Amino acid sequence: MELNIIHLYPDLLNLYGDTGNVKCLKKRAEDRGIKVNIYNFSDDENKPDLDNGDLFFMGGGSDRSQQLVYKDFLKYKNKFRELIDKQKVVLAVCGGYQLLGAEYIDKDGNELPGLNILDYDSKSGKGKRIIGNIIIESTLDITPKTIVGFENHGGRTYSKYEPLGDVLSGYGNNDNDKKEGVVYKNFIGTYLHGPILPKNPHLADYLILKALKNKYDIDSLDPLDDSIEIKAHQKTIKLYG
Ligand code: GLN
Repeated sequence: MELNIIHLYPDLLNLYGDTGNVKCLKKRAEDRGIKVNIYNFSDDENKPDLDNGDLFFMGGGSDRSQQLVYKDFLKYKNKFRELIDKQKVVLAVCGGYQLLGAEYIDKDGNELPGLNILDYDSKSGKGKRIIGNIIIESTLDITPKTIVGFENHGGRTYSKYEPLGDVLSGYGNNDNDKKEGVVYKNFIGTYLHGPILPKNPHLADYLILKALKNKYDIDSLDPLDDSIEIKAHQKTIKLYG
């Protein structure tokens, strides 16, 4: 089996260890004998064909980086929405998550357009940032149900989609509704850096399996020894839960 990962704008969107998510996906797939191809997609001429991607990752970035990515990715937005609707697997973190929504209002009140691929909005909390460890109880069919991470964002997101989870500790999408992230088909948007996947191997496997299921007739992945990862996950819950 082969898994094609497209890493969107790795040079512009890469805060707080986000690249570790791609490394984690690669390692966990390769440990099962799956061949992994990683393609970087950025604001240059050498763009891989989005149609070849099975799993897409977009990390977080500053407001400025988000605008650079916005300008470049605008011409691909319809294609990307089409891929999301075709059940392609996407993980977008923080700045990437905000950017794929309809609008982002920055801390000076400037209304910056989002790519409008999904219908949610983000608005800066006027310079007051949300920073710290976060624990959520996920809506996804994963075991354990908890997802742990680290958040650092000025923007607050307001969405009507199903969330990725309910916040047990920390903030998530905004200061009010105790919801974290967005799930739409196989698209997941989240504020969890950390990077999120090495701390949550069950979520990494969820994404790998969904991506492979789109191409191959499989129901499960071979188990890996996750005892150390799960210990780290549980320690986070003990410390910050
Ligand atoms: N620019 C965004 C914010 O501060 C995203 C930051 C991030 O990706 N951590 O809200």
